Amino acid sequence: MSQKFDRIVVVGGGSAGWMTATALVTGLKGRASVEVVESEDIGIIGVGEATFPSIREYNRLVGIDEAAFLRATNGTYKLGIRFCDWLEQGRDYFHTFGHFGNLFGSQTLWGQHRRIGLDEPLGLQCMPTVMAMQGRFVLPDERAQFKYAYHFDAVEYAAFLRRLALQRGARHTQGRIVDVVRRADGGVAAVQLEDGRRLEADLFVDCSGFHSLLLGRTLQEPFVDFSHWLPVDSAWACPCERTGEELAPYTRATALEGGWAWRIPLQSRTGHGHVFSSRFIDADRAREQLVARLDGTPLAEPRLLRFTTGHRERFWVNNVVAVGLSSGFLEPLESTSIYLIQDGISRLMSVLTAGRPLHDDDRALFNDGSARRFGRIRDFIILHYCLTRRRDSELWRHVAGMQLPETLAFKLDLWRRFGVLHEYDEEGFDATSWLAIHAGMDHWPERADPVFAEIPLERARHALQAHRKAIAATVERMPAHHRMLRQVLG
Ligand code: FAD
Repeated sequence: MSQKFDRIVVVGGGSAGWMTATALVTGLKGRASVEVVESEDIGIIGVGEATFPSIREYNRLVGIDEAAFLRATNGTYKLGIRFCDWLEQGRDYFHTFGHFGNLFGSQTLWGQHRRIGLDEPLGLQCMPTVMAMQGRFVLPDERAQFKYAYHFDAVEYAAFLRRLALQRGARHTQGRIVDVVRRADGGVAAVQLEDGRRLEADLFVDCSGFHSLLLGRTLQEPFVDFSHWLPVDSAWACPCERTGEELAPYTRATALEGGWAWRIPLQSRTGHGHVFSSRFIDADRAREQLVARLDGTPLAEPRLLRFTTGHRERFWVNNVVAVGLSSGFLEPLESTSIYLIQDGISRLMSVLTAGRPLHDDDRALFNDGSARRFGRIRDFIILHYCLTRRRDSELWRHVAGMQLPETLAFKLDLWRRFGVLHEYDEEGFDATSWLAIHAGMDHWPERADPVFAEIPLERARHALQAHRKAIAATVERMPAHHRMLRQVLG
């Protein structure tokens, strides 16, 4: 294959397409032409309103000003996710993007918390969790032990990036691709549009969404299906008018009979959705359950989306690299799709800016790293299901008893037997995130590590009480999320 990438065509103008194009024109600084082709008739998926803290790194790298971004995308701040009814009905917990502090040197805070037997959630020892509980928000400084992400309108984000990419030299073509011209070596030579135009390139980035036009349909790359572990395969999505002034600085994910419902607060509306498994509940009943949960006037009819959880076996084949939904999809429980787009872009940029010819090993590393990343996040999402004590419907009985991937089973075993939060390479979520789910699902090691007893009981109790009080007092002084946001928006 050609080792030079003078001409790059990005197929698709959703979040994946415009995030990729913006990164390419910014990072390559004119060393290659970048053209985005999209079809207005096909449109973009447009859901994807909750994100992961890494989005801030992407925005920073491409030079996006936070206030301008929040204004353009109806954006709000996100400290994490509140999981309701996952362990059992009536119980909830937070997974926020924060640490628990280092009160006991090399010893874990959760270990002392367990040993003392404090009858209060571990989350009270975690600043962003307490902020989320109270609806407060401040921008963290470098010393802060938390990160944040955003909720935003994905359609507006794509439009915002399109303006930026076009200003920086990307080209934009509207038109439906109806044919793909192949090269003798099996790669793609050009895409053919409905009106007869033909776009040639050295490298094609397939951002065509679930169509997976180049990697899936044209190159026929097999799909690695995760749906036996993650059985949800459909979603109803419906935006509502926002009611009241309060703005939760978190996504809510509530477990239901055949799946779970999201609630995502934006500045002027609230996104609602019901992600469900068509094996365990039919679409009409899932729709009814969503409509019954809406907390404002609906702004549109609920929209049904279908998907399969998993990924293409390889992500980069010949001169086609897939980024976004065309490469794979993990159900949206931990809002990781845009993070995975970013992950693909950063792997691609490091190859394209390496300043040497592409080697087969580059593609192999890209494929191996991307597949492992999907697998790690898959395990983290399964963790939310498999620890449930719910047995009230077929879905919950299924996930409570299913056989787990070996990688996850090994981690769970280490945690149960030794209290170790093992981290593999290419993890999407660090040990603190895993701890937040174990703690929230009341899933603890079988025995207390004798090392915990090295700290006198009273000293540990006092330290934890003082820590909780200090967090509560700090959070008490913070502004409400909507006030902080108003201040930033100006
Ligand atoms: P799309 O938005 O579908 O874009 C595909 C593009 O390809 C379009 O421009 C289309 O016109 C173009 N195209 C396709 N075929 C052709 C053709 N023949 N010719 C020309 N152009 C073509 N992600 C998150 O990070 N957080 C979330 O909370 C979240 N929630 C989600 C909830 C659900 C139910 C689903 C299904 C997804 C969710 N996602 C979420 C994922 C998120 O929506 C996507 O990752 C994101 O929108 C990127 O989509 P994309 O750009 O890959 O595809």
